[in-house]
Amino acid sequence: MECLFCRIVAGQIPAKKVHDDEHVIGFHDINPQAPTHVIFVPRRHIATTNELTIDDRVLAGHLLVAAARYAREQGLADAGYRLVMNCNADGGQTVFHIHLHLLAGRKLTWPPG
Ligand code: AMP
Ligand code: ZN
Repeated sequence: MECLFCRIVAGQIPAKKVHDDEHVIGFHDINPQAPTHVIFVPRRHIATTNELTIDDRVLAGHLLVAAARYAREQGLADAGYRLVMNCNADGGQTVFHIHLHLLAGRKLTWPPG
């Protein structure tokens, strides 16, 4: 298995998991860019958001709901946070298995770099 996040999903590479359900797992980013930096990934491999189809709408929504619920549970909701999905080179994507970043715990700048 080549894909890093497929290997994390399969338990072949350790991760500090914060969320685990039938469709989505969440874990701490290894190189955090904010005091809270967690990524939520579908168990099923989808390389980039370019590959999403209408049939993936429930799964794509599941990522958002899992991240928002985690933020609420961690007491991050009122202060706020950022949810990001990077796509391909210009988006800064480095792992080609879609994932939703949850960044929180500091004032984030806009526009992003
Ligand atoms: P992106 O640049 O949007 O593709 O995000 C990939 C993210 O995966 C980066 O923020 C990396 O720090 C993170 N990452 C890479 N390897 C690991 C790993 N083994 N465990 C957790 N996060 C990782
Ligand atoms: Zn994968």
